[in-house]
Amino acid sequence: MKRADLHTHTTASDGLYSPEELVRAAEKAGLGAVAITDHDTVAGVDRAKKAGMQWGIEIIPGVEISSLAGGKEIHVLGYFPGEMDRGFVEKLQSLREVRRKRNEMILEKLKELGIPIQMDEVLAKKRGESPEANVGRPHIAEVLVDKGVVTSIDEAFERFLGRGGAAYCTPRRISPEEAIRWISEAGGIPVLAHPGIYGDDKLVEGLIRGGLAGLEAYHPDHTPEMERRYEALAQKHRLIVTGGSDFHGERHGVPYHGPLGSRTVDLDRVEALFALKRGK
Ligand SMILES: [Zn+2]
Ligand SMILES: [Zn+2]
Repeated sequence: MKRADLHTHTTASDGLYSPEELVRAAEKAGLGAVAITDHDTVAGVDRAKKAGMQWGIEIIPGVEISSLAGGKEIHVLGYFPGEMDRGFVEKLQSLREVRRKRNEMILEKLKELGIPIQMDEVLAKKRGESPEANVGRPHIAEVLVDKGVVTSIDEAFERFLGRGGAAYCTPRRISPEEAIRWISEAGGIPVLAHPGIYGDDKLVEGLIRGGLAGLEAYHPDHTPEMERRYEALAQKHRLIVTGGSDFHGERHGVPYHGPLGSRTVDLDRVEALFALKRGK
């Protein structure tokens, strides 16, 4: 039986492993398949596929779209076991533009507050080959600490960058319903990422009505109780139950979210369900 880790990040977004390194690590972890689900981009998929052929790992193309509902950031996973509509890649590009715009808006507000920061200083904080679009508030917070404006990242978020902070702003973002629609229309399978961390099952049920095909019941940030609850909810609505480690690499030797392969599903079963949902 092949095990699949259906939630991983590479350097194409904010992961620390290149697509090739991730595939190599998947092989070492004894996985049969891995889904590449970078934030708002599929840029790492082709390289992962090539490496997958070399190491005998099946690669499932995917994405994790950030959307906004009721002031909460909601992540929608999309899986593309078949063809992906080309227009979809352009839509993802527009989402990354929004992130860039947001950084500019924050720096503008900080300037008005008498704290001038240059975009170059922020970009200098990005790690690895992570693209500009994945530079955001944590990087701005680091610059604020460097400059002695605040003494910690937490303080930077509390006073300036977090919700209610003096430089907080959010450009218009897509809703989770829109993300679900984008994925479905592009030939993909929309799955709600880590439903347990939103603390709002009404919202989860609403999104099920909004066209979700699956729930990510197994995630390192879920308690065993949450896993059971979302398994049951998925069964009740005839949805696919998925899982993944949300692997980002290790920071200071500690895996962020979970180690690769720490949450998996049976590949054959999930593929059969994917095929069923796409046929609908
Ligand atoms: Zn997420
Ligand atoms: Zn993730």
